[in-house]
Amino acid sequence: MSLTFEINSRSGKARTGRLLTPYAVIETPVFMPVGTVGSVKGVPQDTLEELGAQIILGNTYHLYLRPGVDTVRKLGGLHGFMAWRRAILTDSGGFQVFSLNELRKVSEEGVTFRSHLDGSSHFFSPESAMEAQIGLGADIIMAFDECTEYPADQARMRASMEMTARWAARSKKYFEGHKEGVPWRAASEIPTLAAEGAARMGHPGSGDSTQSLFGIVQGGMDRALRKESAERTIEIGFPGYAIGGLSVGEPRELTREIVESTLEHLPADQPRYLMGVGTPEEIVEYASLGVDMMDCVLPTRAARHGLLFTSEGKVSIKQARYAQDAGPLDPNCGCRVCKRYSRAYLRHLYASNEVLAQVLNTIHNLSFYLDTMRRVRHSISLGEESRSF
Ligand SMILES: [Zn+2]
Repeated sequence: MSLTFEINSRSGKARTGRLLTPYAVIETPVFMPVGTVGSVKGVPQDTLEELGAQIILGNTYHLYLRPGVDTVRKLGGLHGFMAWRRAILTDSGGFQVFSLNELRKVSEEGVTFRSHLDGSSHFFSPESAMEAQIGLGADIIMAFDECTEYPADQARMRASMEMTARWAARSKKYFEGHKEGVPWRAASEIPTLAAEGAARMGHPGSGDSTQSLFGIVQGGMDRALRKESAERTIEIGFPGYAIGGLSVGEPRELTREIVESTLEHLPADQPRYLMGVGTPEEIVEYASLGVDMMDCVLPTRAARHGLLFTSEGKVSIKQARYAQDAGPLDPNCGCRVCKRYSRAYLRHLYASNEVLAQVLNTIHNLSFYLDTMRRVRHSISLGEESRSF
């Protein structure tokens, strides 16, 4: 066993649960901060722990290019390399290959692409994407999929969905044959926090614990293709399922419609992961629809641009109106930034292009997202109507 999912309470379609991996016990629904290159930009790991981040995401594409999978593997996988003793999820690299590479070439075998760093040529296939993710050693890894562009016509959406299904089968086959290669270190390095997960799942490094591979549902913006993709992915069989290929430029109402209809076709007793969404309001809404896991670059990326999410709405801290504002960024936020600094100071740091502006802004935004999810879990556990989150 490498993954267990328990549902503890339900309210409407929403549910709270616990996801146990070898490295962690994760309360769901969970928001996963994005740590693209093995770093949640601007935030040290101990601060992430203090904020209550239970699981973070790493991007295979970026880590594969730099520092390289071999380097990370030799240093104990991502957990050892970045000194993070909680859970990690890596994506398959597919999304970045499709979003960062205009010169990519897709074939049945895989995708040839050029590095955005130095222009060198590389190739990802379901097999090599699994090999890379096994070397990186995250708790949860993702099948290699093709993210269908938007808009796309019916024939294109179908062909892409079918290739993703074939790639999912190849991903699973390679993973099953090679999963013992995960570079996890000895059980003695597991902190008390993760002891329960480790006891139930087998300690990392003990030989009986492995990573878990999730399947990804594609199918563009077509509900019937999404249903077929879900069925074909479930037939291959994974311990969890993701909904991919959304937030690619479609209207938000369409995103919601596809999420809601796709969820109906996913197993109710397994974790459901919605990839790459959304605003604070959206993550609340998706949790109310029954999504268990979400990730998004928005809180960290927006923070670096001075856009802050608060209980009173969005704040663009660069605005002159905050130049002499002695109040906290968000009077209802208990994070270390809101407890200590004024809007005027944060505005000054941003205007002066200080590194500290990015650090403090990111800490607040992540705190706001993680607190939002905490409140959502609490509401669901009380059985409150989903709209009252
Ligand atoms: Zn705050």
